[in-house]
Order: sequence, then C-alpha cells, then structure tokens
Amino acid sequence: MDIINIYDKSLYYIGGVVRDKLLGKESFDIDITYIGNAIDYCSKFGRVIRENPDFGTVRVDVDGREIDFASTRCEIYEKKGHLPTVVKIGCSLKEDVMRRDFTVNALAMNTETGEIIDYVGGQKDLKDKVLRVLHDKSFIDDPTRIIRGLKFRIRFGFELESHTKKLQDEYLANINYDMSYKRVKKELIETFNLNSQRAFELFVSEGIYKLVSPETFELPKINIENLIKKYPVENVWLCYIGLLPDLSRLDFTKQERKIIEDFQSIGDVKTDFEIYKAFDGLNLESILLYGIKTNNIKAVERYMDVLRHIKISTTGEDLKNLGIEPSIEYQKIFDKILAAKLENPDMTKEEELEIAKRMDYDN
Ligand code: ATP
Repeated sequence: MDIINIYDKSLYYIGGVVRDKLLGKESFDIDITYIGNAIDYCSKFGRVIRENPDFGTVRVDVDGREIDFASTRCEIYEKKGHLPTVVKIGCSLKEDVMRRDFTVNALAMNTETGEIIDYVGGQKDLKDKVLRVLHDKSFIDDPTRIIRGLKFRIRFGFELESHTKKLQDEYLANINYDMSYKRVKKELIETFNLNSQRAFELFVSEGIYKLVSPETFELPKINIENLIKKYPVENVWLCYIGLLPDLSRLDFTKQERKIIEDFQSIGDVKTDFEIYKAFDGLNLESILLYGIKTNNIKAVERYMDVLRHIKISTTGEDLKNLGIEPSIEYQKIFDKILAAKLENPDMTKEEELEIAKRMDYDN
C-alpha cells in the first residue's frame, strides 16, 4: 500500500480513503482503524496531536501528515438524529464497519497486505456507482446521511440505489426535527460549496430541503451555479441555502446572519439609483440571493458590471469648504450628486460641486 508509510498487519485504511483509492482519487483525510485500542497502539507512529479516549481516536503527525487512528468501535443511536453513544471500543472490524453510512464508505484495506475487506458489497456498489445504506433504520438514526448521500452523488456522479431512495422518501415524509443541526449545517456547507445546480435541483425535487425548512419550496428559475461562476463568492453554500423560507434551525455565524438579513431587507429595486443604494456596501452573497429570489439578475449584473465602479468624488470636507454647514442635508446632497453621476459617470468633481452649490442655494 502506498497511501502513507505505515505497513502494519493490524491496521486498516477505512471509509472514504479506501473508496477514493479504488476510484483512483486522492484523499485529503486518511482514516486508519486498529482492531483494539488505537490510543495505546498508534501513538508510536509519530507525534500525538490529540486524543479522544471517549471515541478511542488519536490524531498523529506521521511524517508531516496528520493521520487519524481510530479504535474499532460499536455505537448505538440512543437519541435518533444526534451523536451516537459508543458502547464498545475494540470490537471486531465487521461491527465497526456496520455503523457506517453507505456501503462504498464501509470498505477496509489492510495497510500491510493491501487486502480489501468488504462485508457489505461496497466494491460492487462502487463499480455500479450506487449509494446504498447498510440497514433500513440508517436515515432514522442519522438523517444527515441524506445530505451526505446528496454530496457523494454530486462528487462522484453516483445514484441512490432504489431501496435506499425509498427509505429516503419515507424518512422525508416523516421527519423528526429533533436532530443535530450542527451536523446538518456541516453537511450542507460541504454539499453546496460544490456549487452544483444539480445538487440544488435534487435537494428541491426530492424534498431534502424539508430537513431544514418544512414549508413547500420551489426551485428558483435562475441557474445559481452559473451565476456564482460569473460572480465568485466566499460563502457559496449560503447562496443556495439562504433561499429557504425557514432558516430558524440553523445556527449561523455573525457574518452569515448579516448576509441573510441584508438580503431579506432589500426592497424592490428598479432604477440605477435604487439598485446602487440598496446594494452598496453589502456582501456579494446578499446581492446574489436577492437577484435569485426576485428573478432580477438584470439588477445584479447592472450593479456588478457597471454601477459599483461609479463613485462620487465629493467629500464632507468639500461641502464644508463650500461653506455648507454640516447637517443631515449632506446626505441629500451626496444622493443628488450620486443620481447625476450614475447618469453621467464622466462627471468631473467641479460639476459635482456645482450640484452641491445649486442645492445649497435652492435651500
Ligand atoms: P470525504 O472526507 O472525502 O468527504 P469521507 O467518506 O472520508 O469523505 P468523512 O466525513 O471524513 O467522509 O467520514 C469518514 C468515514 O466515516 C466515512 O467514509 C464513513 O465511513 C464514516 N461516516 C462519516 N459520517 C458518517 C455518518 N453520518 N454516519 C455513518 N458513518 C459516517
């Protein structure tokens, strides 16, 4: 095996890393399982970064690469939709594999011999490009697997196997909203940061969005993927998820909340001046969300391609020098100059000041 420099008969690559290896893709996370207690056994492979005795996991710096070593463990879902409880550390490899989400993520590979251990038909499903859960209660135990399924379908071009799709439909028709939305959010971020219109189409047509927002939601007409390719943003996922009518279950950061609130408070914009005043100073995500929601991409393009480059040159200091006393009138003067400048972007500063003088005179 050539994933990392560890060759040990009692250690197995497990989960995504084996899937990626068989798909010929590179893995970013490398998970290794030890049949027994990994914390005792695996600390010898390098500098221990951290360990979590409750889960029997240890992260070790192996030749400059952070590797997660896990003990084989059994888990039960005492509270459906929440983190499982570990009931045994050091169980058999088969028991460990059975707690996983999809068959293609339940493969193990011996680090010494390269032998693949496949208890659940994961290799065949990998070949057939299907995602199959390991048991009928899988989505009830952990509904975030539905979003993970969507993510893997997009990343690898897989389909949901038909019985798994039926289980998904059944769960979505009967959602238990008492679930860990922290985990839901993490999966939503990973899925929608892929910037895939297809992901959003499936999210809507299959009703996966109902995990977050129960009320009926229709796919916007705008192709969000193309819009984001034209106007790249930092928080790609928010340009999809921010459209849902009920976001109360997700715990947003301050910046994320500002993006949503700004977007929701933009009123109807038609003229260049209204567009400029509404969009100026906002995060691009808010602007895109507005354009998608209102089907008004023209306003977004007008602002992004033309208006945002237009700035007035007049400052408060200039008005003071003209003898105009500082007051709330300043804002009116700036707005008047801006309106004129949006019509005539070549306007000079002298011409701007003329407007200010005229307004002061009229008052
Ligand atoms: P990638 O890191 O490329 O996104 P991955 O499969 O490695 O894919 P992780 O989220 O790192 O994804 O999870 C590692 C492994 O842990 C998975 O392959 C799967 O076996 C298991 N796993 C992760 N999340 C769950 C879950 N919600 N339910 C069951 N098993 C899970």
